[in-house]
Amino acid sequence: MSFPANVETLLATIATRQGFAQLAVDEAVCLEQERGQNQVIVDILNGLLDSWAYSDPGKYQDAYFFLDASLLRRVVVREFLTEGTKVYTRQEWNERGLTAPSHGANYDAVPYRYPLVNLGVIGKSECPKCKTAQPVVEHYAQTYDSPEGDEWLREYLVLCLDCNLPTVLKSETSTHRF
Ligand SMILES: [Zn+2]
Repeated sequence: MSFPANVETLLATIATRQGFAQLAVDEAVCLEQERGQNQVIVDILNGLLDSWAYSDPGKYQDAYFFLDASLLRRVVVREFLTEGTKVYTRQEWNERGLTAPSHGANYDAVPYRYPLVNLGVIGKSECPKCKTAQPVVEHYAQTYDSPEGDEWLREYLVLCLDCNLPTVLKSETSTHRF
């Protein structure tokens, strides 16, 4: 394409370029949405990997847990523990006289209060988009911290990696820990 030789072609060139610029903006918006969606899922998956280690789940970072089939109890999935991860029995826990590590520190082994289960028995619910059963994840976090009052969030998400979609099943907030 040679350089415009008159005002008509110059105006046409401007319009074409403006179109390209707008297209790039639209693509950037889509990519940013995609980045955001993927980052949310990365955060959830990372949380599922190690929230059992948090001494005060949700206080210092968002916590994510798999649940049992009743969707009431947090569980730890055997298949997702890295090799060599220790799991405390109640006796070991009591013998060590374990209390919560100091602020923000993590447990070095799975606390006995979390039942260790196989992936096949975790709580699931239907993904609203693809209608298949997908894991339900509890998201737990302190969302506000002030002398006047705190806010804690507990929500239950259906996490579908096929649809790239965490869907909120139920969400509640409280001024105290749940
Ligand atoms: Zn789905």
